[in-house]
Amino acid sequence: MADQIPTAEPNSPEARDVRYHLHGYTNARLNEQIGPMIIDRGEGVYVYDNEGRPYIEAMAGLWSVALGFSEERLVEAAATQMRRLPFYHSFTHKSHGPMIDLAEKLVTMCPGNMSKAFFTNSGSEANDTAMKMVWYRSNALGKPEKKKLIARQRAYHGVTIAAASLTGLPANHLSFDLPLSGILRTGSPHYWRDMLPGETEEQFASRRAAELEELILAEGPDTIAAFWGEPVLGAGGVVVPPATYWEKIQAVLAKYDILLVADEVICGFGRTGKMFGCETYGIKPDIMLLSKQISSSYLPISAVVANERVVGPIMDESARIGTFGHGFTAGGHPVAAAVALETIRIIEERDLVANAAEQGERLRNGLAAMADHPLVGEVRGVGLVAAVELVIDKQAKTALEKPGLLGAAVNKALQDQGVIGRAMLDAVAFCPPLIITAAEVDAILTKFRA
Ligand code: PLP
Repeated sequence: MADQIPTAEPNSPEARDVRYHLHGYTNARLNEQIGPMIIDRGEGVYVYDNEGRPYIEAMAGLWSVALGFSEERLVEAAATQMRRLPFYHSFTHKSHGPMIDLAEKLVTMCPGNMSKAFFTNSGSEANDTAMKMVWYRSNALGKPEKKKLIARQRAYHGVTIAAASLTGLPANHLSFDLPLSGILRTGSPHYWRDMLPGETEEQFASRRAAELEELILAEGPDTIAAFWGEPVLGAGGVVVPPATYWEKIQAVLAKYDILLVADEVICGFGRTGKMFGCETYGIKPDIMLLSKQISSSYLPISAVVANERVVGPIMDESARIGTFGHGFTAGGHPVAAAVALETIRIIEERDLVANAAEQGERLRNGLAAMADHPLVGEVRGVGLVAAVELVIDKQAKTALEKPGLLGAAVNKALQDQGVIGRAMLDAVAFCPPLIITAAEVDAILTKFRA
C-alpha cells in the first residue's frame, strides 16, 4: 500500500498511483515498494518528471513518438478536427474525410501493390484483425483447412488473445493459458545468439529458411495460411536479420502459397532509415500492420493495409454472408486520423526518414565504439533503432545468473544519468524520436558510456 513507499507523502501522486492503478508490464508488488516514475510534461526529445528533472526519451516513449513531445501542428490538427467532427465511424457504409484521406495515403505510400486499408486502434488490434482477415479469406477461397499461422521466437505482436498468441515471448504466455492452438513457432533471425559454431550469417539465414520449409512440410502446406514477422524484431531484443534472411524466407513462402504479414508497428514511418522496414529488407508483404509512429502516438490509431490477394476474397465473402462482421467503434477515429495525416505530412516535409538514417548511423557508430568495453557483448541496429547486449562473460555470451538483472541495473543507472532507455532482458534498447539532433545523440552516448 501507499505507505510502503518510503519517501511518498500520503495522498501524493506516487501514493495514489500505488493505491489505485494496476500497471501494464510491471511487477505490481515491486511497484508498491518503489512507486512509479511520474512523467509530467514533454518538449522535443525530452520528458520531465513531476519534480522537473529532464530525461532524453531515448525510446520515444514506446518506440513511437516520432515527432517528439511538443509538436504544435499535431495539437492544431486534433483541435481543428475535434471542432468540425469529433466522432464518426465506418460501419454500414458510413465514412468521413480524414478516414478516406488516410486510407488513400497509406495504400499509395505502402510498398507492393496494396489495395485497401482497414482501421483499428492499437498494434494488437491490427494483429488480431489481420489474423481474422486471413482466416476469413481462407474460408472465402473454399480452403477451410488453411488456417495455421507461423510466427517466430522473440516476436512481439501485442497482448490481445490472438496477438499475444502470435508473440513469441514467455512473459506474454505465462499464467495467461496462451498461446491459442494453430500457431506454429519457428526460430528468430538472431545470428549472434543462435549461430552454430563457425556458421556465417549467410549460412545461418539459409538454415532458418530450411527449418521453415521443414516445418511447413511436416504440418502440410495446405494447412498453413500465413507467416507473421516484424522486419526487425523490436521488443524481442532489436534483432536485425542477416542481409539475405528475408529473401530466403520469402522464397519458401512463395513456393507453398503462404501469405506474408509484415508487422511494421515499430518499423513503419522511417524507423529503419527507409519509410518502411519492408523497403529496407526487400520484403513484399500481402498485409502490412501500422501503428505507433503513424500518429507519433499523440492519439491511438492503427491500420491493416492489404493487397488484392487478401482484399478481393474478403469482399466476395462479405457479399455471400451479407457483411464483413468486424469493426471497432473508434476504428479510424476522425481526430486520430487527422493527427496521423499531419504526422505523415511532417515526416515527409522535413525528410525525417533521412534524419533517422543519418542520426541512426551516428548512434550505432557511437555504440559500436564501445564494443571493447568488458560489459558489451553485441551492438546491433539499423536506421534509428539499436540495442547493446550486455554480458559478463564475452566468450560464453552470458550475463548474470538471473536473466535481465544486468540489463535492468545498467538501464536504471542510465536513467539516473537522465536518459530513458529500455532493458529487454540484458539488452538495452535505443529508439529515440526521429527529430533527434546530432548533439542529442551525442548526449545519449556520453551518458551511456558513463
Ligand atoms: N506489434 C509490434 C511489432 C509492436 O512492437 C507492438 C507494441 O510494441 C505491437 C504490435 C502491439 O501494439 P499495441 O501495444 O499498440 O497493442
